[in-house]
Amino acid sequence: MAPEPTLNLPFPAMIRDPKSFEAFLATLRNFVRTRLVPEETRVARLDEVPADVVQDMAAQGLFGFSIPEEYGGAGMTTEELILAALELSQCSVAFRARVGTNTGIGSEALVADGTPEQKSSYLPRLASGAITGAFAMTEPEAGSDAVALKTSAVRDGDHYVLNGTKCFITNAPIAGLFTVFARTDPANLGASGVSAFLVERGTSGLSTGPAYQKMGQEGSPVSEVHFDNCRVPAANIVGGVEGKGFRTAMKVLNKQRLHLAALCIGPAIRMLDDAVRFVSERQQFGQVLAEFQLVQALIADCQTEIHAARALVLETTRKRDLGEDVTMEASICKYFASEMCGRVADRCVQMLGGYGYIADYGMERFYRDVRLFRLYEGTSQIHQLNIAKRTLANYNKRRPA
Ligand SMILES: Cc1cc2nc3c(=O)[nH]c(=O)nc-3n(C[C@H](O)[C@H](O)[C@H](O)COP(=O)(O)OP(=O)(O)OC[C@H]3O[C@@H](n4cnc5c(N)ncnc54)[C@H](O)[C@@H]3O)c2cc1C
Repeated sequence: MAPEPTLNLPFPAMIRDPKSFEAFLATLRNFVRTRLVPEETRVARLDEVPADVVQDMAAQGLFGFSIPEEYGGAGMTTEELILAALELSQCSVAFRARVGTNTGIGSEALVADGTPEQKSSYLPRLASGAITGAFAMTEPEAGSDAVALKTSAVRDGDHYVLNGTKCFITNAPIAGLFTVFARTDPANLGASGVSAFLVERGTSGLSTGPAYQKMGQEGSPVSEVHFDNCRVPAANIVGGVEGKGFRTAMKVLNKQRLHLAALCIGPAIRMLDDAVRFVSERQQFGQVLAEFQLVQALIADCQTEIHAARALVLETTRKRDLGEDVTMEASICKYFASEMCGRVADRCVQMLGGYGYIADYGMERFYRDVRLFRLYEGTSQIHQLNIAKRTLANYNKRRPA
């Protein structure tokens, strides 16, 4: 008898218990549709995610996706995190931005490199949503060139004294814990002169500015963070050693690029869904818009790009879970998914015609919200440089001498 054909997938799926994870995704999908989507207009109007919604998001465990189970989180593998992000992000960006620092950049430095004491002190509170995390790297004169950061940390007994200003810090106005990158070695202007610190709200010398007025993402507060002779216990240096801050940041950002790529795909799926519903109902020239082939071309281009991004991100995610170095691929994912989302937003506004420009229809909000994806966590240009640099380095390694 011929052997049973086997499914030769290039990578095994890194889902620990597929059946219960599928049930979890179905619950999450339902929560997004029934609890979060109906709140989108209120969140935009109030410019905050109200406490009752935050409470329900916490009860669903949304703050602890990637935090290890021993600290109260779900301990998701990268693939699980990405699949959850694809569901969670099919609503206004503000919701996932509210929990996103805890499930991403605001906890990941601790998860990756924190000491056991640091982990048990902060991770349970981040996982439950009792405190909100923030990742404070960018400065007024150190954006894409993050290594140029000037915030200083000078040792003074069993403390470090921090001075400097961070800008554009997501969730800073509401954060209880800041992962702050500061220069501990003033003579070393490179990456190895930088250390990461855990700074709690309420530490003397730490203050946050008012939330910026932004192009979009109403409900996701972002502000400056100021350090004015801010005394931080030496025990709060991430990992307990100086000079490792940048290495930690790169670990965080590598994983976060995949996470963010998934968070770009969810809104694209949602925008296409909404646009398809609209063109299936509205009539012009005596027929529904969806019957016009030029409108169908817009639908096809959105769907094709969404599928391409999803496949790319999932393949890269599985490689990461297998322990492969995906530094270049993570850049490719973030670059492609964020640019893709911008193109989808533009086409979806087009499909709605004038209604795409009117706030009541919601599409213009997504259009503004997703513009940020191409700017933060590495602009598109910085990812292009990274991808080209690594491609050329690989070629040069293989080139005969
Ligand atoms: C709403 C919001 C939230 C944010 N959240 C956070 C956060 O939580 N934590 C945090 O640390 N940061 C955060 N950021 C900062 C964000 O990561 C930076 O804005 C981003 O890295 C770009 O830095 P910049 O704004 O200084 O722009 P610049 O670096 O000044 O870049 C300006 C332009 O020049 C281009 N450019 C720069 N260098 C090069 C080059 N070498 N080659 C080609 N082109 C180049 C860029 O691509 C861009 O188009 C946030 C920003 C915003 C707007």
